[in-house]
Amino acid sequence: MSEKDCIFCKIAAGAIPSARVYETDDVFAFLDIGPVSDGHTLVVPKKHYAHLEDCPPELLAAIGPVLGKVAKAVVTAMAADGYNILCNRGKAAGQVVEHVHFHVIPRKSGDGVFHRWPAYEYKPGRIEELLKKIREKL
Ligand code: AMP
Ligand code: ZN
Repeated sequence: MSEKDCIFCKIAAGAIPSARVYETDDVFAFLDIGPVSDGHTLVVPKKHYAHLEDCPPELLAAIGPVLGKVAKAVVTAMAADGYNILCNRGKAAGQVVEHVHFHVIPRKSGDGVFHRWPAYEYKPGRIEELLKKIREKL
């Protein structure tokens, strides 16, 4: 998806309306149009980067405080019990809009959102194997 066709770039530029809750020079936050809970908000850099790992460190540093501020406001305003921060990266992980963004999803106890978390146990030796593979790429 190029910047020209990117819906979040259009929202950032004001060409498409959004329910904007907060913004700084580099980052803005608006209500998700397809929420999984009331107050579900997206935190998005104004500049187009498809994926988290494409963002320069300064931008990541600018996103962090906005995430914290918006999450606090949303969870308080919704009288929620907690929240999830989610970044879907790539189609396999559910990313539909290829402009990096973070979901802030307010949660109530027992709300059933993400009710299945398919955790499992590693077999012996597997952790060491995976550690080696990942560290080699850092
Ligand atoms: P993802 O699946 O992580 O790429 O999430 C994209 C999110 O953007 C979805 O939750 C959509 O509901 C949301 N979305 C798409 N278009 C708009 C829009 N025009 N305004 C607000 N949220 C949108
Ligand atoms: Zn974009």
